[in-house]
Amino acid sequence: MKLEGLSILGQGRVMAAGKPTPAINPATGAALEPNYFWATTADVDAAAQLAAKAFTEFSCWPATKRAALLRRIAELMEANAAAIVERGSLETALPAARLQGELTRTCFQLRFYGEAAANGLCSGARIDHADPGRKPQPKPDTRSLMRPLGPVVVFSASNFPLAYSVAGGDVASALAAGCPVIVKPHQGHLGTSELVGLLVQQAARECGAPAGVFSMLYGAGRDVGIALVKHPLVKAVGFTGSRSGGRALMDAAAARPEPIPVYAEMGSINPVFLLRGALDQRPEEIAAGLHGSVTLGVGQFCTNPGLVFVESGDAAKKFLQKLESLIGSTPPGTMLTADLCSAFRAGVEKFSSSPGVKRAAQAKADAGAGKAQGSAALFVTDAQTFLGNHGLMDEVFGPSTLVVECSSREQMLAAAEKLEGQLTATVHGLPDELAANGDLVGLLVTKAGRLVFNGFPTGVEVCHAMTHGGPYPATADGRSTSVGTRAMERFLRPVSYQNFPDAALPDELKESNPLKISRLVDGKLVLA
Ligand code: NAP
Repeated sequence: MKLEGLSILGQGRVMAAGKPTPAINPATGAALEPNYFWATTADVDAAAQLAAKAFTEFSCWPATKRAALLRRIAELMEANAAAIVERGSLETALPAARLQGELTRTCFQLRFYGEAAANGLCSGARIDHADPGRKPQPKPDTRSLMRPLGPVVVFSASNFPLAYSVAGGDVASALAAGCPVIVKPHQGHLGTSELVGLLVQQAARECGAPAGVFSMLYGAGRDVGIALVKHPLVKAVGFTGSRSGGRALMDAAAARPEPIPVYAEMGSINPVFLLRGALDQRPEEIAAGLHGSVTLGVGQFCTNPGLVFVESGDAAKKFLQKLESLIGSTPPGTMLTADLCSAFRAGVEKFSSSPGVKRAAQAKADAGAGKAQGSAALFVTDAQTFLGNHGLMDEVFGPSTLVVECSSREQMLAAAEKLEGQLTATVHGLPDELAANGDLVGLLVTKAGRLVFNGFPTGVEVCHAMTHGGPYPATADGRSTSVGTRAMERFLRPVSYQNFPDAALPDELKESNPLKISRLVDGKLVLA
C-alpha cells in the first residue's frame, strides 16, 4: 500500500491542500515520508453529509452483515500486519512485539463486538404484550429495542495506535452498533492511520457498505476536530486523551443548538491502597509488581498507577526501599511523541518542586537532542501534604508514581474521600482485611469504574463484563465504558413501537423471534 498523505472521504480521497506536515519518528526527531495534508471545512461538511446518507441504509443492515464488515476489516489488518507494525514502530517508538500484540487485540475486538451485535446482545429487545381487557384502560402492545444514534466522530488515542485508533475500540463499537464513523486521526501516527484507514475503506467496499460508512479526516483538533463535533449531522463523539482536550469537546458539543453526547476517556491516576496485612507479608513483591505496572510501555497507559497509599511503618520502609532501587535502575524509554515527553518532564518538575514532596528516585534519561526519552520517577509525601495540595492529583502521563504515607487507616480513608473520579482503584490486602475495610471499598466503588484486588490496573481485558470508564473527570459520562461489549451502548438509544403490526416490526421484535435472540418478554428473560 502506498502512503499518499491524504484524508479518506468515503470511497474517495481528499485533494491535497494547505501546508504539508510530515509524520515524526520520536526516537530520532526525523521527518518520515510522505507529507500529510489537513482536510478543510468543506471536507468536514462532505464527510458528514456522506455519513448521514450512509446512516439511512447502514442502520437498517442486519447485525450479521455489520459483523461481516468488522470481520473483513480484521482479516485485512491481519494480512497487512507486517506493514502496519513496521510503520507503527517508526512513528511511535513502540516495540514491534507490542504493536503486533495490539494488532491481535484490535482484530479480536472487531470480531468480538460484531459477534455480540449479531447475537442481539445490545439490541435490548423487550416485549410487553397487549391486554385489551385491562381495567380501567386497555394495555397497548409495546415493544422496544436499541437503535443506532447516527454518524459518530472518533478522536483516536496517541497511546494505542491500533487498539484505540482508526479501527480501534470506539470505531468497532460504533460500526457494530450501526453508526457510520468519521475518524480524526492522532498526529502521533499519521502513516499508521492511513494504512489502517485504507483497509477499512477496502473492507467497506468489498462488503457493499454505503460509501459514507467510514471517512477519516486529517487535521488539527482545534480546527477540523471541533468543526466535526459542531457539525449538525454528527450525533455522538468518542475520544481518548487529555482532560483539556476531552473537556473542549464536551463544551463544544453541549453548546450546539442540538447538544450531543461526548464519550471522552480522559486522565486517571488509578490509586493503589496497600493494606497493612498484605504489606507486612510481601512488601518487596508488591514493590516489584507496582514497578512493572508503572513503567510498562514507558508509563503511557491511562491505567498507569500514579498514586499509592501506604500506612507508615517497617513494612512501608521495606516497600519503599525496593521501589526506589527498581525505579532508579529503570532504563529510559522513548515516549510516543516529543509533546508527550515534554508534558511528562513538566509534570515531574512540578512534583519535584512541590513543598513536602520528596523525589525519592529518578532513572537517568538520555536527553540527546530530538530524543523524546522519559525516565521513571518516584515521589514520596505524607497524607497531610497530599490532602492540602490538589495539584498532587494531576495526571503525570508517563512512568511516574507518588507514594503517600498515611499515619493511620483513618488518614487513608480521608485521602480516598478526596479522590476525583478514576478509571480504576486497586486494593492489596489479605482476604479478611478486605472485609474489615468495607468502608474503604464502599468509598472506592463511588470513585472508580473498576476495582482490582491484589493485582495491578494496567492490562484491560476485552470481555463482556469489563468496565473501562468511571465518574468524571476519568470520563465524560460515568455511565459508560469504552472497552467491552457494553461500549456499543454509547451509540444506541431506545425506541418503542406501540401497537405495530407484526410484519412492520424490526426482526428483533417480531413475535416469532426470527433472529433467535434473548428478549425480556412480559418482564421475564426469555433466552435464545
Ligand atoms: P490530547 O492532547 O488530548 O489529544 C487527543 C486528540 O484530541 C488529538 O487528536 C488532538 O488533536 C485533540 N485535541 C486536543 N485538544 C483539543 C482541543 N482543545 N480541541 C479540539 N481537539 C483537541 O492527548 P494526547 O496528544 O494523546 O496526549 C496529551 C496528554 O493527554 C498526555 O500528556 C496525557 O496527559 C493525556 N492522555 C491521557 C490518556 C488517557 O487515556 N487518560 C491517553 C493519552 C493521553 P491535535 O493533536 O490535532 O490537536
